[in-house]
Amino acid sequence: MNIVEIDGSFGEGGGQILRSALSLSIITGTPFRLVNIRAGREKPGLRPQHLTSVHAATAISDAEVDGAEVGSRTLEFAPRAAKAGNYQFDVGTAGAVMLIFQTLLPPLCRTSGESQIFLRGGTHVPFSPPFHFIAEVFLPMVAQMGVHADVNLLKAGWNPKGGGEVTATITPTSALQPLNLTERGALRRVTVYALLSNLPDHIGQRERDAAANWLRDLREIKPRLEIQRLPSIGEGTMVVLVAEFENTVVGFSAMGQVGKRAERVAEEAVRPFLRFLQSEATVDSHLADQLLLYMALAAGRSRIVTDELTAHVRTNIWLIEKFLPVEFKVEGELGKPATIEVGQWR
Ligand code: ATP
Repeated sequence: MNIVEIDGSFGEGGGQILRSALSLSIITGTPFRLVNIRAGREKPGLRPQHLTSVHAATAISDAEVDGAEVGSRTLEFAPRAAKAGNYQFDVGTAGAVMLIFQTLLPPLCRTSGESQIFLRGGTHVPFSPPFHFIAEVFLPMVAQMGVHADVNLLKAGWNPKGGGEVTATITPTSALQPLNLTERGALRRVTVYALLSNLPDHIGQRERDAAANWLRDLREIKPRLEIQRLPSIGEGTMVVLVAEFENTVVGFSAMGQVGKRAERVAEEAVRPFLRFLQSEATVDSHLADQLLLYMALAAGRSRIVTDELTAHVRTNIWLIEKFLPVEFKVEGELGKPATIEVGQWR
């Protein structure tokens, strides 16, 4: 049988290669062998968060797996068809649960039944999409393509304790529609969430006020500013900005940390949005790498414009082209605005 060989040191050499490979392998029914797992990272090999993705992908597809251990740098994965069902996965650390959800969504939305998933781990942790980004940016965007899922936050999971809890419902998708996003349209709404768990109220208030100040020159609309106290076993804070345009939704976020002023957290979330407004882009740089797989699966040509081409985008394209008969075209340089287009061969 055909087996896809993947070198995990390609591009940024991170965990996304593994997660995208798991999703694509199940969707196409093609086994893969991944070597040099996360070779570009300080602690290479599978970490608990990545291993949970492997376990989750194995559970939904009855896959045969070799090398699924913490620290492992090689993985062989041979799936069967994905099956809808009720699943529970616990990362056991503050590893990002929304990345596990993103691994499962493409195969589970293509089954014929509804799936319920319960996830425990980190929901608002660095280098991953926070829960609010998935709920308010990523899911509305894939919904435009016909993918329907709901997520619900029961508890927030922050570094280092984790313990966040999320439930997700994934409903079957009949066919994926292409996404042709070359114009974002008028700005309709901006919402800033100052999120905090078990920290003094003034932190959320200062984040909110600083965000309002950074947004004071916004002419088109008056931003909504919301402080949300999230139940959690740990402590943490984050600012998430969600901007809705006529044709698209984008998101920006920044983590709080000990020693970082609340005002700076707000600034780090708002300034990238103000830069984005100066561009002609239709998707933010994170959304760009997260939409590629859906664009490649859609029936027809899809096109997006990102404000910053990242290594993650290049790597995901390289990987998707190994599994699917599609060809991407990228116009733009790394770190700069770019147009990304994809369509099937034939
Ligand atoms: P590693 O530990 O190997 O760095 P990882 O498994 O944490 O890897 P990456 O390969 O870096 O993951 O992929 C992270 C994913 O999270 C990417 O899809 C990226 O777009 C997304 N992401 C990171 N930060 C944010 C953010 N602030 N908002 C939305 N998405 C984000």
